[in-house]
Amino acid sequence: MELGKTRYVLDPHSHVRSDYTFVSHAHIDHMHTPSRNERVIASSVTKELALARGYDLGDTTEEAEGVELLDSGHILGSRAIRIQDEVYYTGDASGRARAFLGKCRTRQARILVMETTYGVPEYVFPSTAKLVKEVNGLIASAYDRGVPVVLMGYPLGKAQLLSYFFSSWDPLFYHEAVDTMNRIHVAHGVPLKQGKRFDPLKDRDSLPRGPWVMVSPMSSGRSRLMAHLKKEYGAVLVAFSGWALGPGYRYTMGADYSFPLSDHCDYQELINLVKSVSPEMVYTVHGFATEFASDLRKMGFSARPLAAYQSSLSDYLKE
Ligand SMILES: [Zn+2]
Repeated sequence: MELGKTRYVLDPHSHVRSDYTFVSHAHIDHMHTPSRNERVIASSVTKELALARGYDLGDTTEEAEGVELLDSGHILGSRAIRIQDEVYYTGDASGRARAFLGKCRTRQARILVMETTYGVPEYVFPSTAKLVKEVNGLIASAYDRGVPVVLMGYPLGKAQLLSYFFSSWDPLFYHEAVDTMNRIHVAHGVPLKQGKRFDPLKDRDSLPRGPWVMVSPMSSGRSRLMAHLKKEYGAVLVAFSGWALGPGYRYTMGADYSFPLSDHCDYQELINLVKSVSPEMVYTVHGFATEFASDLRKMGFSARPLAAYQSSLSDYLKE
């Protein structure tokens, strides 16, 4: 994207020539290893999380002329960016506060570039409080039967929410991939209870008999580890994802239960986000980009999906 003489590149998958490269957050699909001399805009937490996942973002800055970073509420350290009052780009964003994460903060801008992962009306998520209550009921009934429960979600983001919400259960195990990310969160002041670190190679046969809770990365119930935990311990597998609202999700994942806990905006929150930015033009990316742009046009907004092959907005901005 070019504004004036400055070229900004937003969440590229590989190196693209730029004056500034913006990395919104530390999920792998938003990550690349910048070349030397590339000037990277990212939060310091994103830099630290990226490094822990094997991506060295080099020297990053949170400040550049005409640029404002805003909490996007997606995961720890995630940011949206506003450039010169002109463009507001959400990165991945959440429309609701939950546990230690706030909701996406917005500013007015002429052009909005937004994620639309859940951009169809079927995806409206229940309240987090209701979901946590239901899951606690499920765990309580498993404990009554002497059965362990595995809570599965992406190791960065979802797994820390699960660690936060369900830490009152004992014994509490964290899969090592989750534990590594939890420790970085604790170092940044997120109050996550300490759990027992579970190494799937060493510890899979030495878990206690009887009930326990483990927070684990999302994995198919048919994977070797999950199949083992089911067979040896009778573990109940619970998957957490916004996609759990869709048909067949639980079966596809081979989970016993699934719950729609998401780190993205649901459909209604996406619409609220557009209204709060009040843009002249909306570009949609990810997920239901075509469908959501079409719905926005019916509501009177100018909107169109950004083609997947486009790594830059400059073609559109010249129109
Ligand atoms: Zn993400």
